[in-house]
Amino acid sequence: METKLLDVRLPEGGSPEELEAARTRVQASIAEASEILKRGGLVAFPTETVYGLGGDALNPDAARKIYAAKGRPSDNPLIVHIADERQLDVLTDKVSDTAKKLMKAFWPGPLTMIFDKLPGVPDGTTGGLQTVAVRMPDDPVTLALIRESGLCIAGPSANLSGGPSPTSWTHVYQDLDGRIDGILQSGESRVGIESTVLDLTGEVPMVLRPGWITPEQIAEITGGKVEMDPALFVNRQRDEAAGDPAPKAPGMKYKHYAPKGEMIILQGEQEAVRREAERIYKEKIAEGKKVEKLLFSDENLAEAAHTLFAELRRCDEENVEFIVASAVEASDSVGFAIMNRMLKSAGYHVVRV
Ligand code: AMP
Ligand code: MG
Repeated sequence: METKLLDVRLPEGGSPEELEAARTRVQASIAEASEILKRGGLVAFPTETVYGLGGDALNPDAARKIYAAKGRPSDNPLIVHIADERQLDVLTDKVSDTAKKLMKAFWPGPLTMIFDKLPGVPDGTTGGLQTVAVRMPDDPVTLALIRESGLCIAGPSANLSGGPSPTSWTHVYQDLDGRIDGILQSGESRVGIESTVLDLTGEVPMVLRPGWITPEQIAEITGGKVEMDPALFVNRQRDEAAGDPAPKAPGMKYKHYAPKGEMIILQGEQEAVRREAERIYKEKIAEGKKVEKLLFSDENLAEAAHTLFAELRRCDEENVEFIVASAVEASDSVGFAIMNRMLKSAGYHVVRV
């Protein structure tokens, strides 16, 4: 299939006429994407977290196509994207006061909430679960697309399953050209790591996937306790450790974010980490290996989140065989979310220095 590139970028400057022409083009791209989605097709869309692969959430056929295009295991449920809280009415009838407060505080934004689902939400969208994950993304083009189509849009990250998530339209193109109907060409994803997933179906809200919105921020709004899925603290591949708790978000158990080369994470005092990274770098070069250092700073975790996946993809493009990365401080909640991704990228290969 031909993958249509649909430009939704606006120029920074230019004459009023140029700006008007660009606005008309953006409108036409959104209209075309909307038509594709209404026909049951797939369009990748920008969000502030990472790019999503969109299909009509209430059309089981579209959901099937999403799994096929990504090569995603069918028990890994999709997040449903909405542009208006009223769209929740077709997804769930269990919206608690806590959920309402969280929506008011964080939507549009990188917080996904899990609710009990209504029967109209296909099992194909929720990976067979009786719950549905919903979020309102903070991107004007995607919000306009959802409104224009009138659909709830199922959207996992728009990458081939297992690899790093896409934070630019070119990443999507590299993975999914020829496998989906269209890609909205917008800018880089601002946050760079996927949304925080919060389960609201139990007594106490529980974080199933850490993200940019922290448990502290959530607790501040709810005024109560927020739990973390115990599986988030298991720093090993589950296969190696029978008896470890299984993650409650099915997607968290899969191999993820893996670059093609081998990757290790160095953990310890910053100067010592930098020295050891340099030593390993030289050692690998001497062995004739193509090697890359990814050194992140605890002082700028926003930058680390924003660049992590793009850096891993760059390493793949450049055929890097060995990546030596520095850990970030996991006692910080954003650092914890970044480490959650890095550990999976590195297959939990951590060396303390
Ligand atoms: P992705 O779409 O690639 O960002 O991944 C979505 C994440 O949300 C995966 O880890 C899913 O397992 C998780 N998720 C989606 N829906 C549910 C649900 N109903 N219950 C638990 N986890 C969910
Ligand atoms: Mg994903």
